[in-house]
Amino acid sequence: MRYGGNTSCVAIAHDSAPAPALILDGGTGLREVSRLLGGEPFSGTMLLTHLHWDHVHGLPFFRAGDRDDARVSLLLPAQPDGADAAEVLARGMSPPHFPITPHDLRGRWTFGTLDEGSANAEGFTVQAREIPHKGGRTFGYRVSDGHSVVAYLPDHCPTELGPGPDGWGEYHEAALALAAGADLLVHDAFLLLEEMPALAAYGHAAADYAVALGRVAGCRRVLLAHHKPDRTDADLDLLAARFGSMPGVAVAAEGMTIDLMSVVPEARR
Ligand SMILES: [Zn+2]
Ligand SMILES: [Zn+2]
Repeated sequence: MRYGGNTSCVAIAHDSAPAPALILDGGTGLREVSRLLGGEPFSGTMLLTHLHWDHVHGLPFFRAGDRDDARVSLLLPAQPDGADAAEVLARGMSPPHFPITPHDLRGRWTFGTLDEGSANAEGFTVQAREIPHKGGRTFGYRVSDGHSVVAYLPDHCPTELGPGPDGWGEYHEAALALAAGADLLVHDAFLLLEEMPALAAYGHAAADYAVALGRVAGCRRVLLAHHKPDRTDADLDLLAARFGSMPGVAVAAEGMTIDLMSVVPEARR
């Protein structure tokens, strides 16, 4: 009721821009981006971290993108089998699973793949790195506008690379490179430490790892995200209380707006 039930979607706007131009993931939270656009069409880029349901199920319900005057450049990680981007999306979004295919979305949609490395999108610099998760190639993204940096790793299983110094997973090179000095780290906090032994196979991280990665990588703020679906508001209040004394750590809630200009040091504004 308070933290929200939609799945992964983060919209990023340039300073003083009236509308977001870059969207990270197309979970059901994507429906809320239409509201941010106030009746205008979306014109921009959408980067998918991977293709799990909770990151793509908002696509057919994106009103601001599914209209004749919209422009959406959708990019997803290059697939190991070299599959075409629209074709791999259509495996989950086409009859009989769903009435329409990606190509049936209205407006100017393009579908492409992205390799690891740097790219430019809508005036942002984007760095993509492959990170361990489960079941399909998964990227984390680092997005910068030249003033501030957001690192986005919503689905990340660092224990896949070993226990690391704390037993919560490795602080591995790709995660550190994405998060290094970021003003905001939005990170997987699916698990509690006590759930790790039973649920490690789900391919996610513990909240404690997210906070520690933020500390190790020198992030200014850490947003604990991608909550386990059956967490209640009370559960998430407890999570917030657990890390509440740590500066810069917060629990993500639906509809949150973060002004990064208030986070970055004066010299970089
Ligand atoms: Zn996933
Ligand atoms: Zn996910």
